[in-house]
Amino acid sequence: MDGIASQPGSPAAASSPTTNRLDSKAEAATDSNDIEMDFDDETPLTFKPKEEQIPALPSSPPKKQTELSSGIDMDFNQLLAIFYDCIFPFREFYRWLHYGGVQKNYFLHRELSFTLSNDAYLRFKSFKDGDEMKAEILKLCPIKIDIGAVYNSEPKKRATVKDGAFKPIERELVFDIDMTDYDPIRSCCSGADICRKCWDFMTVSIKIIDRALQDDFGFKHRLWVYSGRRGVHCWVCDDRARKLTAESRRAIVNYLEVVKGGEETTRKVNLSSKGLHPSLRKANEILNPVFTQRIMNNQDILTNPEKWKNVIALIPDDDTRKRLSESWSKSNVTPAVKWGNILAEIKALSKKKPSAATAVMEIIFQHSYPRLDSNVSVGLNHLLKSPFCVHPKTGRVCIPIDPKKADSFDPFQAPKVSDLVEQIADFDLSNPESARTVPHYQKTSMKAHVEYFRKFVEELEEEAKEVFRARRAEEDKKLQF
Ligand SMILES: [Zn+2]
Repeated sequence: MDGIASQPGSPAAASSPTTNRLDSKAEAATDSNDIEMDFDDETPLTFKPKEEQIPALPSSPPKKQTELSSGIDMDFNQLLAIFYDCIFPFREFYRWLHYGGVQKNYFLHRELSFTLSNDAYLRFKSFKDGDEMKAEILKLCPIKIDIGAVYNSEPKKRATVKDGAFKPIERELVFDIDMTDYDPIRSCCSGADICRKCWDFMTVSIKIIDRALQDDFGFKHRLWVYSGRRGVHCWVCDDRARKLTAESRRAIVNYLEVVKGGEETTRKVNLSSKGLHPSLRKANEILNPVFTQRIMNNQDILTNPEKWKNVIALIPDDDTRKRLSESWSKSNVTPAVKWGNILAEIKALSKKKPSAATAVMEIIFQHSYPRLDSNVSVGLNHLLKSPFCVHPKTGRVCIPIDPKKADSFDPFQAPKVSDLVEQIADFDLSNPESARTVPHYQKTSMKAHVEYFRKFVEELEEEAKEVFRARRAEEDKKLQF
């Protein structure tokens, strides 16, 4: 029963055996990565699991809601407590937001906020390191963790600075893509529901936005995360991205936003017929095959008059629209044939009216180009759900997605907290000799996701090393004079 020490609110939680010292100097000294680094605080870059500290899982907690095959019955909060104690990658999380220690107090000045199971919402939490953060999370067991900006002083002590002096100074450039924004163009589901058909919208969004961030803006460190339910987030973590002003963020969002206007706007995409921007040409290369193969059919956009009227409304000619509508109403043709008719009509029309040439792409973009929540991206102090949270409705973990493998990501395969606890219990039953030496996350389907995240963090730390080398070279140069 020692693992149950992680029960929220229990006095033992804060001193749980897995609350490893994340900033131990001894650990730092054993890491070759640290040798060249000249940190201005004492926090190391990498951490090693302390094998002897891995606790056993509880065997028979009291409440009965989620019954697991291993005989573990527990409710969401109990599962969550075990998740935080045994699986949540606190070391990597801290290393991520510590950014190699390039800037003093960068983690200390970061706002985190917690939503508790009683709906209490605790903003402006801040911690000196990963240990302190883990202890508080084990104590409160929040059902949601949000990450805010890095402020000019400690968020938890904001009341001690004079009015107006407490300000956000840096933050990752973030993007939030939510399936509910696709309700006007999806017919398979609505609201919070998703299915494999509408997930195609998210897949193309990841590909388009990620390509633009990499090629058009040169951002290297882009972390894509499944939100746990119906969307994806992107955290652009480059030093340059974190320093962007709200104005620059707005300019980037404007560049990426192509679909504009609400319900009352018929034509939401306006492309120039005098030459398409290379970025939009690239987006079209991604969208075109998906649109015809999947979105057109899966979303039934050409099946009945109610649906197709929204599509042909984008053809800039009354006669053509009327002709197509009358012809399709009389005969029962497939969506593929209708799409062929549209292409042929627009081709013919653009010979007389060159501005009509963009209509095909406008139809495709309006029905599949990414919808961004611009407020989340622009506001420096806007909060966004942290990676590795567990969604309380689905029980799924917000795991990182490799954008290069966006096509094969299946949200319905994202790890569920109940499955993870069961995987640990199963492993421990079958491997009693290594139950206390193998870190818990490695016994579960979280292993690959934590390793992917660790690699992402290590790449960020490489960038930090470059900054330190440059600083040292600069200092050496000064000394020579
Ligand atoms: Zn759907």
